[in-house]
Amino acid sequence: MKLHWQILIGLVLGLIVAFISSFLGLSNLVINWISPFGDIFIRLLKMIAVPLVLFSIIKGVSGLTDITRLGRLGLKTLGFYIVTTVFAVSLGLLLVNVIQPGNKLSAEKKVVLQENISQFQADSGDKKVASKMSDAKKMKGGSPLQFFVDLVPDNIFGAFGNNVKMLQIIFFAIFFGIGLTLIPKDQAAPVIKVVDGINSVILKMIDLIMKAAPFFVFCLMAGILAKMAKDKPELLFSILAGLAWFALTAVIGLGIMILGVYPLVQKLFVRKFGYTEFFKKISPAQLMAFSTSSSAATLPVTMDVVRDNLNVSEDTTSFVLPIGATVNMDGTSLYQAVCAVFLAQFFGFDLSFGAQLTIVFTATLASIGAPAVPSAGLVMLILVLESVGMNPAWIALIFPIDRPLDMIRTMVNVTGDATAATVIAVSEGESLV
Ligand code: ASP
Repeated sequence: MKLHWQILIGLVLGLIVAFISSFLGLSNLVINWISPFGDIFIRLLKMIAVPLVLFSIIKGVSGLTDITRLGRLGLKTLGFYIVTTVFAVSLGLLLVNVIQPGNKLSAEKKVVLQENISQFQADSGDKKVASKMSDAKKMKGGSPLQFFVDLVPDNIFGAFGNNVKMLQIIFFAIFFGIGLTLIPKDQAAPVIKVVDGINSVILKMIDLIMKAAPFFVFCLMAGILAKMAKDKPELLFSILAGLAWFALTAVIGLGIMILGVYPLVQKLFVRKFGYTEFFKKISPAQLMAFSTSSSAATLPVTMDVVRDNLNVSEDTTSFVLPIGATVNMDGTSLYQAVCAVFLAQFFGFDLSFGAQLTIVFTATLASIGAPAVPSAGLVMLILVLESVGMNPAWIALIFPIDRPLDMIRTMVNVTGDATAATVIAVSEGESLV
């Protein structure tokens, strides 16, 4: 059976087990005995992602015979990422203004929803919201150029530390690769050989992890849902019902991106794959994104399918995708726009046209700055809300439903990266067959 089917079965079984255990009041059993394997899976993928990014970029850059190509590739990649991100935010704004999910509930229903949510969050949730707020505070930089300052590591080993700084690692790897192309060939050759060898080992390790992916995904899904529903599935359902219009708006936007925008980009600029063919080829990465809610953890798989199934060259894959995983988050930016306007509607906050333009700007930056890990988009949303003078504590309202929406927006993020890789490959004259 093909891998993506196996993963899908693992995913569905995980959900079923979590539902049943939640109704039987046995969520703790799942949380203690099944969920840890899901955590192991995420750790394995993240463990691989860092050396993978480092060595594949060094390999990719050192393979470029001509450095001007690097500049061209860089400009095209960033250009594509920014255009699609701005498009996604604008689509989000359009939908949320047309559908108006925040105005669909009566005043009484709003009160009930808020009460349910605070009851739901009473045990651990409140602390979680507070910790997101303090994360967001740390993200705030001073000067507008802070982004560029943060790009340069002051200690490359620090970048590998507990709080992995992917962009700093990418910066170091590109710089190292450039250095490697500029030293005499006989000195570079052994380094390139070692980097090549390490790359092959890493790819093999990914292969081995993926063999067990269906089992791990089962554990991951069962754990996530068990933690969400605990032993009070009814409460969760009532909250989800209250937030249904909001979720629907986000899902419509994300659906348009995945099913409409990216296939259209494929059709216009790539013209190599049929509609379903593209999805079939990248589905392992999409499923992985859905189950892990992390573009970074999915990166090893995304690179695998883009290189092996879509036939994008090694050079392009190892340049475009690691940057994409951290910088290009169309799903996240669309989601932030929908959230910000939904919260404004819900709490009766007046958002002017100018404020909505500010949202386009800050959501674009926030999605670029968001680390590619679960619920990073929610943390960055705090900064978006603050930029237009809204109360950041309002994120508590969407907290209970963030995870499932995170799963979908991460799928969009990863599909966007894969699409970018094909567009850029074709523009570089690659045939992809
Ligand atoms: N989980 C997303 C990602 O890794 C980021 C987000 O929270 O939107 O791509």
